[in-house]
Amino acid sequence: MAEPIIRAQQVEKYYAQPSENRIQVIAPTDLAIMPGEIVALLGPSGSGKSTLLRMLAGLSRPSAGEVFWHGKPISQVRASVGIVFQNFALFPWLTVSENVEAPLKALGIAPEQRRERSLKILDTVGLDGFQAAYPKELSGGMRQRVGFARALVVQPEVLFMDEPFSALDVLTAENLRSELLELWHKKTIPTQSIFLVTHNIEEAVLLADRIIVLGRNPGHVRTDFLVPLTHPRNRKSQAFTQLVDYIYTVLTRPDVVPSGLPRPAVRDQRQMHYQMLPHARPGGIAGLLELLIDYNGRADIYRLAGDLAFEVDDLLPIVDAAQLLGFLTVEEGDAVITSAGREYAESDIQLQKEFFRQAAVEHVLLLRQIERAIATKSDHTVPEEFFLDMLDEQFSEEETLRQMDTAISWGRYAELFNFDAARRRFILPQPDIEDETVGEPEGE
Ligand code: ADP
Repeated sequence: MAEPIIRAQQVEKYYAQPSENRIQVIAPTDLAIMPGEIVALLGPSGSGKSTLLRMLAGLSRPSAGEVFWHGKPISQVRASVGIVFQNFALFPWLTVSENVEAPLKALGIAPEQRRERSLKILDTVGLDGFQAAYPKELSGGMRQRVGFARALVVQPEVLFMDEPFSALDVLTAENLRSELLELWHKKTIPTQSIFLVTHNIEEAVLLADRIIVLGRNPGHVRTDFLVPLTHPRNRKSQAFTQLVDYIYTVLTRPDVVPSGLPRPAVRDQRQMHYQMLPHARPGGIAGLLELLIDYNGRADIYRLAGDLAFEVDDLLPIVDAAQLLGFLTVEEGDAVITSAGREYAESDIQLQKEFFRQAAVEHVLLLRQIERAIATKSDHTVPEEFFLDMLDEQFSEEETLRQMDTAISWGRYAELFNFDAARRRFILPQPDIEDETVGEPEGE
């Protein structure tokens, strides 16, 4: 399994205020940048895209959490990154080649080598012959080529780009995009990963292998998925426009659960291993499904929350959980019950547990693993710690505990296992004993 190049663990950004309050710009966020991918970060203006980019690139320190570069804190290593900015950020008093050589100079590279490398990269980005020109003599597109050359001349492992095409006219932008893709696909540049901040949905779908959408107040990842399209991509194809529409809906409707993806982030799930369990109780899931039957099996999630006098944010984990278990699907912002969900909701309590158990083992890796482990061990008991260690590799410490709590509540309800809370061990459920009697501390 490939290791991430960059891994942000629970990074946050906030700014102090003269009063006691602080402005939280980025909520605690986990994110990994893998080799071989172009990642596009989309989000409404002010959602914290640039802030997140700057933290991932090591330009700005998180207020909390840590960014790791190949497993080491990024503040302690020299990360191999290049950055392209929207406004080009060139030195007007330096020539094109002096601008491109500037980062090499900062790295202490000898003049001759600087010259050689800058000539080569200027040639690669189509600026051969412009070495002696000053930025003001160049068009916007040419200036941004200098921006690219300056970022690429250090042979960065990760190329960061913050709205690199948005100051350019449409044709110039389109031209530069395809040239960049060509460099990337032909491996003309040694860059392993590209991280692109953009507010342009089509640009993201055109270029990216993976798209992350940020929500705001404070910035947080709303959805993170792989783009299921091959290159070259056709803007007019149905798959392309569907994906653009989908992202548009996610961006414009903060109430919509970003789950009706054309394809889930399959590779991510493999790398990430465990799904993130939504923190919902089985009783809540049953309640939602029963209610959906009253609505003839389909209801707008936003309206449903209103009718229930729920905050949408409180309802979403329940919807997510029911979806994860295969009891409902989300279509255009509506929750739609599946046949499995209907069967579940219309059964008596004992049968509901049975259906829940089947769904949980089928859809939830952690519960499947716990069940198998108990069945396999000769004494039919496994310590919680065994699974915590594995979850820990993927989630923050706090989230690991929350994931485990949710898994325990689901597993107990489904009678997949009992949990001995005093010894922190999973045990085989006793058919005759109600699991509440086993080691459960009072008042939990
Ligand atoms: P985006 O790139 O998505 O437009 P930014 O990362 O530029 O968003 O900004 C995110 C939020 O952080 C904005 O609301 C901005 O006002 C706020 N912000 C950025 N820098 C500071 C700062 N130094 N002090 C207070 N707030 C800031």
